[in-house]
Amino acid sequence: TPFTYAPAPESRAVVDIAPSYGLFIDGEFAPAAGGKVFKTVSPATEEVLSEVAQAEAADVDRAVAAARKAFVTWSALPGAERAKYLFRIARIIQERSRELAVLETLDNGKPIRESRDADLPQVAAHFFYYAGWADKLEHAGYGPNPRPLGVAGQVIPWNFPLLMLAWKVAPALATGNTVVLKPAETTPLSALFFADICRQAGLPKGVVNILTGDGSTGAALVAHPDVNKVAFTGSTEVGKAIARTVAGTDKKVTLELGGKAANIVFDDAPLDQAVEGVVNGIFFNQGHVCCAGSRLLVQESVADELLHALKRRMRTLRVGDPLDKNTDIGAINSAEQLARITALADAGEAEGAERWSPECELPSSGYWFAPTLFTGVTQAHRIAREEIFGPVLSVLTFRTPEEAVVKANNTPYGLSAGIWTEKGSRMLWMANKLRAGVVWSNTFNKFDPTSPFGGYKESGHGREGGRHGLAAYLTPSTPKGEHHG
Ligand code: NAD
Repeated sequence: TPFTYAPAPESRAVVDIAPSYGLFIDGEFAPAAGGKVFKTVSPATEEVLSEVAQAEAADVDRAVAAARKAFVTWSALPGAERAKYLFRIARIIQERSRELAVLETLDNGKPIRESRDADLPQVAAHFFYYAGWADKLEHAGYGPNPRPLGVAGQVIPWNFPLLMLAWKVAPALATGNTVVLKPAETTPLSALFFADICRQAGLPKGVVNILTGDGSTGAALVAHPDVNKVAFTGSTEVGKAIARTVAGTDKKVTLELGGKAANIVFDDAPLDQAVEGVVNGIFFNQGHVCCAGSRLLVQESVADELLHALKRRMRTLRVGDPLDKNTDIGAINSAEQLARITALADAGEAEGAERWSPECELPSSGYWFAPTLFTGVTQAHRIAREEIFGPVLSVLTFRTPEEAVVKANNTPYGLSAGIWTEKGSRMLWMANKLRAGVVWSNTFNKFDPTSPFGGYKESGHGREGGRHGLAAYLTPSTPKGEHHG
């Protein structure tokens, strides 16, 4: 990777969490107008980490007004000036990456090795990447002088709290928009630390505003008449509700929703490598990944061999304290998510699939789910159709590439897929047939700020990342009805 980071941050002493936080509006932390607060807990221990403000409609009004005011000067800045702020933010994130990685692990439950080696490097990389675009927007695909949209209302989930923030905030700021962002209710802390980073970077007041709160806060934000652009990552159900809210308005919208990706292993695949890819595909971040390889499609002739190797590998996975840098699988993010995973896994058993987990001792407090494998799964089973968003893999088999394509596409989702084969021609043929926004070949869960990411079908609308990610925050400078010559 192009960046190097501080060494293993396994101690929570590197992060100083205040007992309470206000909302970040117009460059200041302030209590919510209604005075309401909620607690955020560590899912690994159930320890209360802090108390944060619950934003309501009046707070959304204040934050959107601050962003609107800041938009006048921020959008008028030369791109090179905006780039300086983004580069500064990226560097501060690098400097504070130990602290932020520990914070993310405490609030989310993900293994420190992942927040340190995946989330934080990606967060910094996104700010660096979009900083580089800020003075080159004439190449964004919208003509010589594209314009920002205005105030972006951004709502993000809990699985990659700071990374989802980076995906949203970096392109918005690079293009001259201002932001009101609402983090998920179970993981508000890294967004609040990011607010502090904005102050440290000297970012003008009101350019970034952070509203902590629940679904009602998010709903008020996306419905606000003075929000010009809505960017949402989360469940398909809420994405559909947001699409209904913005229908009939002139708000631009991008939706990054759920997934049920197929990881497809052919009989000529390098099996050891495929096993690693399958394990990474479903157990990375406890399977709380929209593009998780939650369906393994394995060619019948190698199914027994692959499953044997997969079980052997799963026996080595270490589940437990996310702050321990040897941990592979951390805590499930919330009691609610644990209940959802448990219910779907139980449905898998009730519908006749065979359940298997390696022996592992789960901690007595906190929210935990052992890595789980289901064989004998048919396409009719709920565990083959519904997003589980947990460390649960459903195994199906196929005989021919054609059958693999049909099975892989047999889902309302279309976010990602993985193909494991040594045959280049088969790889290309498959990649063209799969209805998935991202297709990985002989790898899985690879991300890069230069690559567009997004889904087909019910996985969403629009793309984030790369040049495509800029387009979502820009409009051509030519007024409606006129055309470039
Ligand atoms: P969720 O939809 O319940 O919540 C996501 C965010 O939306 C939270 O901040 C929540 O407070 C807010 N919200 C809830 N109701 C709202 C409403 N009516 N209006 C506006 N905002 C509202 O999803 P979740 O449980 O937090 O996250 C898990 C889901 O997110 C999974 O389905 C997963 O696939 C998806 N996800 C998708 C991507 C992607 O890039 N496609 C990435 C991560 C997660």
